[in-house]
Amino acid sequence: MNKCYLRFPEVFWSADADWLEYVPARHGEWTEWVSFKQAANMPILLGFNASDRGRAIEAWSDEQTVASAMQTLRKIYGVSIPEPIDYQITRWASDPFSLGSYSYNPVGAVPKIRQELAAPLEKSLFFAGEASNNDYFGTAHGAYLSGLRAAQEILEI
Ligand SMILES: Cc1cc2nc3c(=O)[nH]c(=O)nc-3n(C[C@H](O)[C@H](O)[C@H](O)COP(=O)(O)OP(=O)(O)OC[C@H]3O[C@@H](n4cnc5c(N)ncnc54)[C@H](O)[C@@H]3O)c2cc1C
Repeated sequence: MNKCYLRFPEVFWSADADWLEYVPARHGEWTEWVSFKQAANMPILLGFNASDRGRAIEAWSDEQTVASAMQTLRKIYGVSIPEPIDYQITRWASDPFSLGSYSYNPVGAVPKIRQELAAPLEKSLFFAGEASNNDYFGTAHGAYLSGLRAAQEILEI
């Protein structure tokens, strides 16, 4: 799951929309956009690419990624929209300290797997992180709750 933030000189999309959805010709490419106009009063659009498409786009240069995003935005909003003045791109799968965006349940996974991941080693090594939370894995609140759980385990030694 990767993000590409594009900062524009001005807002050219509907200022009152937070989420913009697009059905592309190429499955999953730039389907989902978030506007930062209402939330942060900034002319920034954030485009997502997930799964296979997200991995494929990680291999592209920054310039190719921005050009591809702009191609989609020009299909939606017309050719006269401005070029972005700045951008920020994530490549979570290639980041050696992340190796992906967040955990998921592969076929055959059972809740016990996450409980095992969360289990402390010999009352001296404790584990937190979204993947160790059974109910809200893959989320920020799951990560937060896992931290509270690990802290509680330490207090109970
Ligand atoms: C594109 C995207 C969109 C998301 N959207 C949402 C959303 O809308 N809502 C939501 O709730 N959640 C969302 N999430 C998920 C959420 O961000 C994660 O679940 C959460 O940040 C996980 O927190 P964590 O503390 O478990 O792990 P992380 O935040 O990944 O922290 C792990 C840390 O450990 C460091 N690390 C790794 N290896 C080592 C090492 N060997 N030595 C030292 N440090 C190391 C990493 O650099 C990192 O800083 C999204 C994630 C992504 C990628």
